[in-house]
Parts: sequence; structure tokens; C-alpha cells
Amino acid sequence: LPIEELSLAQARAEHASLGEDIARYDRAYYQEDAPLVPDADYDVARRRYEALEKAFPELVSEESLTKKVGAKPSEKFAKVKHAVPMLSLGNVFSDEEVRDFVARVRRFLGLAETAPITCTAEPKIDGLSCSLRYERGHLVQAATRGDGYEGEDVTANIRTLKEVPQRLHDGAPEVLEVRGEVYMTHAAFAALNERQTAAGKQIFANPRNAAAGSLRQLDSRITAERPLHFFAYGWGEVSALPARTQWGVLQAFNAYGLKINPRTRLCESVEEMVAHYHAIEADRATLGYDIDGVVYKVDDIALQERLGFVSRAPRWAVAHKFPAERATTILRDIEINV
Ligand code: NAD
Repeated sequence: LPIEELSLAQARAEHASLGEDIARYDRAYYQEDAPLVPDADYDVARRRYEALEKAFPELVSEESLTKKVGAKPSEKFAKVKHAVPMLSLGNVFSDEEVRDFVARVRRFLGLAETAPITCTAEPKIDGLSCSLRYERGHLVQAATRGDGYEGEDVTANIRTLKEVPQRLHDGAPEVLEVRGEVYMTHAAFAALNERQTAAGKQIFANPRNAAAGSLRQLDSRITAERPLHFFAYGWGEVSALPARTQWGVLQAFNAYGLKINPRTRLCESVEEMVAHYHAIEADRATLGYDIDGVVYKVDDIALQERLGFVSRAPRWAVAHKFPAERATTILRDIEINV
């Protein structure tokens, strides 16, 4: 039924049952690395759940899934409390909504409609986020996002990744938590599933789940056999930021020996942002790893700080998602049937 036609009782029942489904999908996806449904179906369920809460605000509570990120850390790992929460990102799906995002940023900051807003545009890597803590340049701890406030200790496993330096180059702040994405290439994913099949073991649904399943191992020797990569894109606790812009911090990370994504651009206007999105989208198949969109971030960190966070996502960033793979599959099926 369309939401406008629902009574409060019907909406409450649907909200409760969708909430149970989503919680089950979240556990399978985040804790078991084995999704029960395709992402596109999950996104439909989540959007309906959010729409129900928008139309019926009495359904919103502290327990609401619209306020939650990921899933609780698995009991199998030691827990790590994040000094700065690891949250999610808001989504937009069209160029028009990118314009709305920038307009919202200006309104929130009390700026004129024509005021320039510079943003970075970064590929949204489809892996799992990880927080790497460096003290005096040495890697001392690595944690997954978990529920955003508490993650899983994966330090021994992260130490097996070639792209994660054990020691940063000179100049790094005394304390630096680098946040970024651990991911697996398409080639490594295909090879891993072949090996798993040959050994009669579980195969992974996609490179994202394979990366998560490989990092979240109790035996780091297994992680060491799985080729995982890392791109740095943000930070948590830091004793002194090396720059006052997102772009500047990424360049500093690069100088410390961390990998940053080469397709990241600094954009001066909405036109440049969406042009870069479409350029990346056109090259998506040739990257060799999965990305599911482009993330725009307000470049000026002073403005990021003023914008702050709303519920489970920053106000100063947004993910511009690519159309779901599922839609492509359906189109392909139709073509085949025709
Ligand atoms: P998200 O993945 O849409 O966005 C947030 C994440 O983006 C961050 O945690 C970070 O890991 C990542 N990211 C990649 N590149 C980044 C960059 N340059 N800058 C900042 N962040 C970057 O949000 P989410 O809350 O983690 O999960 C939602 C996604 O997971 C949806 O796409 C959903 O379909 C999928 N999901 C699927 C199932 C299922 O059952 N199939 C279940 C749960 C979640």
C-alpha cells in the first residue's frame, strides 16, 4: 500500500516487521559477511522503513534503525571503543540531489545562494572501513567500524596488509587515527572463490563480503593469504591535523606513506562534482575493484566542524550512489526474454 493510505496501526505493524527483517539482514551482512538478500533489496527495505518514520513520526524511538550504524562487534573479537565514532553517509541518487546537498550546506552555514563551496569528490570504495591508530608513527591498533561506537580489534590481521605501513614517514602527528577502506580486487576475488570452491569451502557473494570475511579472521595467517588493499580517506582522533582542508590532509597522508585514491579531485562547483562523478562512473568497469558511488566532502575542515553530524551521518559529506546493479540485471533479463 502507498504510505499515504496506511493507518497508524498498519504503519506500526509494517515498521516492526521491516525492522526485524533489516536487523536480521544487518547481522548476516556485518557479522557473518554473508548477506541474505541483494543490496538493492536491502536498500528498498531501508528506504521504506525511513519513509514510514517520516510519515509517522510516532514510530521513531531511540531503538530506531534509522539511528543505527552497522552491527554490534562480534563476540569473537576483542572490542575497541572509537574515541571518535565511525558513522555512515547520507545518500543521493541524482545530479539534482547533489545540487540540493550543496544548497543545504550553504543554508546551514548562513551563506549566500551563490557562495562558492569547494568539495572533494572521492570514489566510494566498496569494502569495509577500518580505523588504524598510529602513535609516534607506529601502528598500534586497527579496528573495524562495528556499530560505529565500538568495533572489533583486527590489529594482527591488518599487519599482514602490504599497503598498511607499520611505520609512517616522518612528520606524522603524535597520535593519528587514519580511517579508510579495506578492499579486494576483482581478480583476487575470483581467484579466492575458485580456491574456496576447489577446497569445498564457503564462497563469497561479492568482493566486499570477501574483504570483510578475510579481514575478520581469528587466525591472521588466513588474512595473510588473502590479498587485501587499503585506501585512506579520513581520520578519527588526531593530536594535530596536518592541514585545514580535506584535500590537504589526504596529501599529508600520502606523504606519510599511506595510499589515497588517485581518482580523488577537488571541485569548485556542483557542475565539476557531477562531471567527475560521471567520469568515474564511465570508467567504473576498468578500475579493477568495486566502487558504489562518489563521496563529496566539504573541503574546509572549519566548515566541516560547523556543519557537524545529524544522527548517523555527517552533514558535510554525502554519497552519490551509482544506479543499483540489480536494475542492470533486470534490464539484462528483460533483453534476454525479449
Ligand atoms: P555506506 O556503505 O553506504 O556508506 C558509508 C561507508 O562508505 C563508510 O563506512 C566507508 O566504509 C565507506 N567509504 C568508502 N569510500 C569512502 C570515502 N572515500 N569516504 C568516506 N567513506 C567511504 O553505508 P553503510 O551504513 O556502511 O552500509 C550501507 C550499505 O551496505 C548499503 O549499500 C547496503 O546495501 C549495504 N548493506 C547490505 C546488506 C544486505 O543484506 N545486502 C545489509 C546491510 C548493508
